[in-house]
Order: sequence, then C-alpha cells, then structure tokens
Amino acid sequence: MSASSDLYQEQILDHYKHPRNKGPLPGASLQARDSNPLCGDEVTLRMKVEGSHLISEVRFEGRGCAISQASASMLTTIVKGKAVRDAEALDRDAILKALGIPLSAARLKCALLPLNVLKLALGNKTDVGV
Ligand code: ZN
Repeated sequence: MSASSDLYQEQILDHYKHPRNKGPLPGASLQARDSNPLCGDEVTLRMKVEGSHLISEVRFEGRGCAISQASASMLTTIVKGKAVRDAEALDRDAILKALGIPLSAARLKCALLPLNVLKLALGNKTDVGV
C-alpha cells in the first residue's frame, strides 16, 4: 500500500516541479480564476474551445502548495482534447483518483481548487449553444 502511495506522491511532486500546460494562453475563449485563502493557493485556467465543443488548448497559471499546483497540472492533462460536455462532467472523484493519496479536509480544498476554476470557466462560456 505504501509503495503505491509513494508512487503517487512522486507523481504529485513531478507535476509540481514540472507543471504541464503552464503559462499564458493568448486568445483563450474561456477563463476563470479562483483562490483558496486558507492555504494561499491561486489558480487561473484558460481554454480554447473549437466549434464550442472541443477543448483544443488549456493552460493554467497559479501559485500555492504542491497539491493545488499538481492538481491544476493534472487537470489540464485530463481536460485537453476533451469535449466540453465531458469536462463539465468531471467530478471530484476524477481529481482525487488522479492524485491518488488520502487528503485531509484542508488539503481537499487545495486539491479541488483547479476543478472549481474549471467549472467557473465553463460557466463563463460566452458561446451560445449546447
Ligand atoms: Zn494548498
């Protein structure tokens, strides 16, 4: 058990140190930002949506603890190339499964911040339609 939990921990550190899809995204069609004041985490998520259905590009910017930033990095890899409706259907279980380690209530807020930002961004969609 502890061996696999170590593996996940390594994965989290790897995403934290080498975040995927991090940086600005000029011309993004969706974006949102939120923070977790309890821990000082901040995450901004930007996406490009093709034909209002497919998330062709996603980038994040942020700062904060390893859990929040690794979770944001993992979320971008999950969401990129997905249909908007699949991204909308992502729930906390998908994130917790990706992180793979048990989290305290405080850490849960860190882990789920990027998902909240994703939901905000999808809600900000200006495109009319499905
Ligand atoms: Zn945090």
